[in-house]
Amino acid sequence: MKKIIFTILFAVFIFPMLQAQTSKLDSLFPVRGLSIESPRSETLDSFLVFVEQELVPRKLNTMILRVDFNYYFETHPELVDTVPLTKQEVKRIVALCKKNNIRLIPQINLLGHQSWAEHLGKLLEVYPQFDETPHVKIPEKYEWPNADGLYCKSYCPLHPDVHKVVFDLVDEICDVFEADAFHAGMDEVFYIGDDLCPRCQGRDKAELFAGEVRRIRDHLALKNRQLMIWGDRLLEGKETGLGMWEASYNNTHRAIDMIPKDVFICDWHYERPDKTAVIFANKGLTVATAPWRNPVVTTQQVKDMARFRMDATKQVRNNYAGIISTTWSPAIMLVREAYRSKADKNFRGMGQWASLVAMFDTMDELAK
Ligand SMILES: [Zn+2]
Repeated sequence: MKKIIFTILFAVFIFPMLQAQTSKLDSLFPVRGLSIESPRSETLDSFLVFVEQELVPRKLNTMILRVDFNYYFETHPELVDTVPLTKQEVKRIVALCKKNNIRLIPQINLLGHQSWAEHLGKLLEVYPQFDETPHVKIPEKYEWPNADGLYCKSYCPLHPDVHKVVFDLVDEICDVFEADAFHAGMDEVFYIGDDLCPRCQGRDKAELFAGEVRRIRDHLALKNRQLMIWGDRLLEGKETGLGMWEASYNNTHRAIDMIPKDVFICDWHYERPDKTAVIFANKGLTVATAPWRNPVVTTQQVKDMARFRMDATKQVRNNYAGIISTTWSPAIMLVREAYRSKADKNFRGMGQWASLVAMFDTMDELAK
């Protein structure tokens, strides 16, 4: 009898309340995301348990996995990096996300981030002809700043053969992820339109950047897939004081008026809650703010996003999509940080877990 009463109570009162809360959350923050490095084979089990136990109950609905070249690509086995996932492993992630209504989006860094410190990325290692700055040698010991202004290598967006290769990878990874969107990175592109590149020299850097965005976007659109990118190259860095990392010092920012309006912008700011989502949204671009590891900043960013959305005209409102938290460590480090934080209230680690919890908690609070 008790069971019947509880079932009736649940059906009549509790379930609709939960539904109402979720739909309010959905209307306030349509995107509640995590951007993270793809897990490695040996820790995949732990990662999947973590997602199901810790992120699903907190109502995560979007997960961007930075795969780069760490997948057993059949189209280009020569580009497979050192810790690749198999197709079967990816399918386990896909199944978990489907079951829990999480939109799963693969990422491969295109254009920039083709090297890191002393390490040349797979694309330029195998295809050095795609290098925008072949005259810049990767140092034995990397230091910033350096005479070459080398942060990361870029590929040349005007090389006639580069898209054939990278689009094979994009198509294959989107197929195996069963994805309706792809994240192309495209952040912190310092090398673009280099004076010594025979194809790019003298060209407008904003047009070069926008051209590459459009090209990738158009390719994805053939299969009804959406392009996501980081927003930093579309913001001006000097006048705004945002600086050369989270905004542009090399005149790419005018590309904000040149790219297609259906490109989704992940607007990352980690140290301050900069209000740049307003710029993107009012340009007609859909934007999610992307925090990292400072719970105070993250909390403010979540509140800002809700406020922007509520205060916006009806034409702009839906351009404020929500929040996608970033993590910049191997995936398993977030998992370990989460469980250790739960066991020891004083443990903070990198702050990534505390920030993620702040994101979910603030969203829940605002949706009450
Ligand atoms: Zn070039």
